[in-house]
Amino acid sequence: MKFKTDKSIDDWVKNHRAQGCISNATAGEQFIYEFIPTSIMEVQTVKCMCCGDKFTYYDD
Ligand SMILES: [Zn+2]
Repeated sequence: MKFKTDKSIDDWVKNHRAQGCISNATAGEQFIYEFIPTSIMEVQTVKCMCCGDKFTYYDD
C-alpha cells in the first residue's frame, strides 16, 4: 500500500532541515511518517527523530 504525502508535509520537512535540524542520517531515516485514515478524513503526521518536533496535516 502506497501513501502520498501532502505537499504541506513535504514543505515542513524541507523547512525543518533548512532551519538547521539535519542529522547524519538520510531524510528517510530522520523523519517518521504516519498515516491515519479515519472515516471522515485522513491524518498525516511527520515526526523528526532528531529533535522530536512534529507536524500534523488533516485532509478533510
Ligand atoms: Zn528536528
